[in-house]
Amino acid sequence: MTTPHDRPVGDDLLQEALAIVRRAAEQAGLPTPAVALAPSVGKPGAPRANAEYKAILGVPTITVATAAMQELPPDPLEVLLTHELGHFADEAWWKRKTRQFLAGMGFAVLLAIGGVVVGPIGENSGAGYAPGLAIFAVSLLIAGALGLTYLANSRTSELRADRFAARHHGNLSSAHDLFKVWDREAPEREWGRGLLLLIRSHPYRATRLEAIEAELNRQDPPATRRT
Ligand SMILES: [Zn+2]
Repeated sequence: MTTPHDRPVGDDLLQEALAIVRRAAEQAGLPTPAVALAPSVGKPGAPRANAEYKAILGVPTITVATAAMQELPPDPLEVLLTHELGHFADEAWWKRKTRQFLAGMGFAVLLAIGGVVVGPIGENSGAGYAPGLAIFAVSLLIAGALGLTYLANSRTSELRADRFAARHHGNLSSAHDLFKVWDREAPEREWGRGLLLLIRSHPYRATRLEAIEAELNRQDPPATRRT
């Protein structure tokens, strides 16, 4: 990990990223997380001009792809980094959701083991494998439901970070510009969107823009907005 105290290649880009994050953090009344540069972030197929938030060895860190620093104009870059800061601000919420998920998965694994144990017992006592199989099937259903809930929570966390960015950056067209770059780099599928949403960790960009716009309107309703 590269911290603000190192002097690596690309130091200027790192300092620029750190300055943006620090400014946004100060404005939001948060401590400044560590900032790192990386050749790429995110899963394969994700946009190049991207960033991510993660606690690395317990150190809250925003990692920015070099391409984001080199290619994004100042406003979309600020939206991107402020969104990641939103994940940092929301860490307690996300940790709670993750703990609930892990506890549920622990229960599903115990149930699956129960099914494996009950199967042969049932067979020996004349009841057959059916009770064990039924218990095992229920554990799979629970694990599947928990997996889908985890992804739904992940999508909610993205919208929460987007709303945070809207509150602290406050410009819809900057988010629009960021998503336009992403649409060029990694276009979203046009087909099967409703069903595929269930297995996505991120909402569709149109949904994210709607959430940002709604948040901006909530902060500053058009009826009262000065022109
Ligand atoms: Zn995010």
